[in-house]
Amino acid sequence: MGARARAGAVAALGGTGLAAALAGAWTAHLLAGVFYAAILVPAAWGASLGAALAAGVRWSRWPSRRAALAAGLAAPLLSYAVFHALQNGRLRQRCVERLGGREEYEQVLLERKGSTGFWAELSLRADTGMTVPRRSRGGRRADAPVISGAAMYAYWAVELAVLSAACILFPLRAVRRPFCAHCRRWYVLAGETCVVAARAETALRALERRDFALFAECLVPDGSVHLARLETCPSCGESPARLRLQFAVDDGRGRAKRAVVYDRMLSRESLHSLRSAGFVLRGPRGRPAGR
Ligand SMILES: [Zn+2]
Repeated sequence: MGARARAGAVAALGGTGLAAALAGAWTAHLLAGVFYAAILVPAAWGASLGAALAAGVRWSRWPSRRAALAAGLAAPLLSYAVFHALQNGRLRQRCVERLGGREEYEQVLLERKGSTGFWAELSLRADTGMTVPRRSRGGRRADAPVISGAAMYAYWAVELAVLSAACILFPLRAVRRPFCAHCRRWYVLAGETCVVAARAETALRALERRDFALFAECLVPDGSVHLARLETCPSCGESPARLRLQFAVDDGRGRAKRAVVYDRMLSRESLHSLRSAGFVLRGPRGRPAGR
């Protein structure tokens, strides 16, 4: 990749990650003022930030695991830090109102925590703890702190872990998709066809032996739950194609799920042999495939 393309890729992935991290932090901060369903909010926040990072990976056209991982680690950290800075600000505003001025507030903070920065305010919030409105026996609402102090830090660590999990998984999954380095395009589904259910094992063995004639005999245009799917570069006819067999199997609980039983890159020569043997695809949504 040239320096200019690299700069564009960094801008696309970094810009998406930055915008999504800030938007996520702001949304969580606003939600925290109304309600804060423990773990549910960070889970939804992580899923949306992770999805945005995966989109950033696709837009950047940069199939780098290292870059995807770096974005997946940095974005949740930044988002969570901004969220806490905003939450600190909310506490500061309340304390300043109660104490009568910014100087008075900073004096109290200095006496109790020894400093006045981000960590001092975070520590003050840990002391305050998390309150969950609950109904007491008399039917009145009581705002008793559920956790505070060290337990609050442990809770925040769990939140950050939940937030980070999706942010790491989603972009790493996005970067696994095959990529044509020549055209700088991600592969797309070129088409699919069905594998006759009764001949599924034969089809798989035939592919492993590269017996394309026998494999083609096991195919049918429609009417089977087992699929053979082909992914190719959308621009050129030079790059290898990805062939995947997805068979419907029982998940052990009586339900069917699709399992990938074959996933290989085929050279253009192999693909040509396969097509000569009668491998015909239908388009991704029932349309005739382009190539
Ligand atoms: Zn290409």
